[in-house]
Amino acid sequence: MSSWILISGGTVIDGTGSPAVPDCAVLVRDDTIEAVGAGASTDSIPRGEEVVRIDATGKTVMPGLIDAHCHTSFGEARMQEEQDLYTSHELRTLRSAWNVTKVLRSGVTGISDPGGSYFIGVGMREGIAEGLVQGPRMTTAGRFLSTSNGIADWYPTSVGVPDSSIGKVVNTADEMVTEVRHQVKNGVDLIKIGDSPLGDYEAFSRDEVKAMSDAAHRLNKRITMHARGSNNVDSAVAGELDWIMHGNALRDDTIERLAESKIPLCPVLLLLGNLGELGGAVGVPQGLRDAYMRLTEATAESLHKAREAGVTLIVGSDTGFAVTPYGEWHARELELLMRYAGMTALEAIKAATSDCAIVLGEGNDVGALAAGKGADIIIVDGDPLADIRVLQQKERIETVILRGEVQTFDDEVLAQRRPYDRAQHICPSEITYDVVYNGGPETQPDPRDFDSNGDRELLDELDDLAATAAQESS
Ligand SMILES: [Zn+2]
Repeated sequence: MSSWILISGGTVIDGTGSPAVPDCAVLVRDDTIEAVGAGASTDSIPRGEEVVRIDATGKTVMPGLIDAHCHTSFGEARMQEEQDLYTSHELRTLRSAWNVTKVLRSGVTGISDPGGSYFIGVGMREGIAEGLVQGPRMTTAGRFLSTSNGIADWYPTSVGVPDSSIGKVVNTADEMVTEVRHQVKNGVDLIKIGDSPLGDYEAFSRDEVKAMSDAAHRLNKRITMHARGSNNVDSAVAGELDWIMHGNALRDDTIERLAESKIPLCPVLLLLGNLGELGGAVGVPQGLRDAYMRLTEATAESLHKAREAGVTLIVGSDTGFAVTPYGEWHARELELLMRYAGMTALEAIKAATSDCAIVLGEGNDVGALAAGKGADIIIVDGDPLADIRVLQQKERIETVILRGEVQTFDDEVLAQRRPYDRAQHICPSEITYDVVYNGGPETQPDPRDFDSNGDRELLDELDDLAATAAQESS
């Protein structure tokens, strides 16, 4: 006996870039798509077998989205120290389990985790596969491989890079290959190299990148790299990595080599775009927002050229930071690719589905609505081709089907926010006499007059401390 789902009446966007087909049925058998369009009817279902019928009239039926850059263990960190030092790995793991459900709820049925704390990503992938955790299909890296000059070694040498860091320092080719072997032994699907944070220098030599790539490939694993600058991308192309992250400001000759290599580029515009365009909502200073916008504009120029040269762009959101919370903005990356890379809505959907399936590996034949593909499907109340932003509205993602199973969620529970683990923050600025009295009357100020950065938790905590102290002294 098979289980069947017949979705009828909806407009199908199949994810391959083909035009949308109105009033097109999709038939699912167990975890696989049986037929799309002609042949997708109850005729092919043996008598007596149960079928779930979904009327999608007026709606869009499309493959679930894939996010090539979703850090499941980052925990919506506001500060790097929170990510690397403060949250315990036990709590971080539990939060990850909570967060991947939010990702799935938003219509993202596949993710690749390009690095994070310990082997939490591996555990999460296994927990999802076992049915312990409700989450998308998943592949994962372990800790980023960084040199003393790469993206994960940001603390003073006296502090070093602790085991709880999202990165692991490897300074020689031998150490790099050893770490690749160690991570593969511990179950990663891919290796994440962290080159220089901003792309203005090379933290790894090209020979080292090639050595890590060869080591990963010998073990049948994938490898990607945080590569923002031209030299970093050149190094990733020469090293024959499987896909490349960022690529912000690229020279023409780099773009040419990248196009020739056929290696996909995952621009990851969301982190910059949210800080630059939306950061004002949470008090990101104007100067910083302007800087993020300038970097985004520079990236836009490279991305337009890259697309013209034939580079495949895939969707990744860098979800996991406070600026990119889980389940909130994955689909905004499509909007940003339209704005900053000149894609059409149909092209952006292709970048988030069939083109992006590469990051899920061979065991996951998904990303398109076609017979034989894995049945990861979303039904959207709206037309993303008319307005791509409908994909960002959770209430419009009416149905999420993963591996042929209609998912159910408790939206009220998922809407809850979790506390953050702030760093040892003492005070956001200097409390000088002038700041307090500013030439005004010398009366004792109400602390709430200064609550401009919204740190209510700190204030509440101070109130509690004061109350306790008062109690103890009475
Ligand atoms: Zn990232």
